[in-house]
Amino acid sequence: MSLDTAPALDALAEARRQSEICNACRYCEGYCDVFPAMFRERVFSDGDLTQLANLCHNCRGCYYACQYTEPHEFALNVPAALANVRAESWERYAWPGAFGRLFHRSGAALTVVLVLGIAALFLVIGTLRPASGEGFYAHLSHAAMVAIFAPAFLLPLLALAVGVRRYWQEVGGAPIKWRHLRAAGQRTATMKNLSGGQGQGCNFEKGDRYTNARRHAHQSVLWGFLLCFASTTSGTVLHYAFDMPAPYGLLSLPKLLGIPGGLLLTVGTIGLAMLKKKANPALGAEGRSGGEMAFTLLLGFTGFSGLILYAATGTALVAPLLALHLGAVLALFLLIPSSKMAHGAYRFAALVRDAQIRIPSE
Ligand code: SF4
Ligand code: SF4
Repeated sequence: MSLDTAPALDALAEARRQSEICNACRYCEGYCDVFPAMFRERVFSDGDLTQLANLCHNCRGCYYACQYTEPHEFALNVPAALANVRAESWERYAWPGAFGRLFHRSGAALTVVLVLGIAALFLVIGTLRPASGEGFYAHLSHAAMVAIFAPAFLLPLLALAVGVRRYWQEVGGAPIKWRHLRAAGQRTATMKNLSGGQGQGCNFEKGDRYTNARRHAHQSVLWGFLLCFASTTSGTVLHYAFDMPAPYGLLSLPKLLGIPGGLLLTVGTIGLAMLKKKANPALGAEGRSGGEMAFTLLLGFTGFSGLILYAATGTALVAPLLALHLGAVLALFLLIPSSKMAHGAYRFAALVRDAQIRIPSE
């Protein structure tokens, strides 16, 4: 057994032990999608446990409801057991694997080095100012931006697709139908698994008190990210399909999507970081909180630096702010397959697989 697989097997063995106890108890059936999926099984393969782990949103409701937590001899801690399996599954699927392990060991340091290193590189490139160009393109040519960002966006997406394919094979996924995507999309949009089952919210940061704060902060980040992505896409379409290059005015589509997107991303990530500071680390994945926090802050900084950059338009601060913003965006892209950013893809895949089992075929 290699040193890399030993902890994964320990995490799976512990999740299996706890799932078998839950399967006999069945008290938490209505809390989330994890327990109905768990109660459908009699024995748990590694793939079953990986699927359960990726369905779990670490709301912690089952921990505070459980009569078998410490000091009971069963010492149940389902949120932590599933979080460990989940984190180790992402590391196992990450491609290239060495980069994934490095991020989970030293995520904060790696993030800072990447952002500052890339920002410094953009500053140097910016000294070779293009002969012409308006707005941001006066500092960095459009051709240079495309040459840098196209591969930096597409290669991590390819790496993530490889990881999700590995996941799909391990959990025994079947051919996907539209109804499965629709069911998974509804659960993602409403974040149903953070609702505590009845809409009362989760116990993430306040122990045995319910709150919807994490659900709302998470929704803010999700919609903020999607709006920012839509803003960039609309700018690309305007540039190539309608020959309307940047800069764009305040009432243009890229700005109407990008400004609220940046605000939602910034506010949501600040909320998630504050909630994470209050939460009990013993109910999360062991040894990953530094990397998770670094990634949350990087996501927020990407949105915030974009807003500040727009506010500084026409001033001498544009060059350094542009370098910093592009450094954050590029670091975010490069870290997609190995950081917490990948969790969105794996969770969606878990919800699709769950829908395949829940929704009978016609
Ligand atoms: S977490 Fe505890 S209360 Fe909930 S099903 Fe498992 S054993 Fe029962
Ligand atoms: S932590 Fe929340 S989402 Fe995870 S299994 Fe427990 S109740 Fe379900």
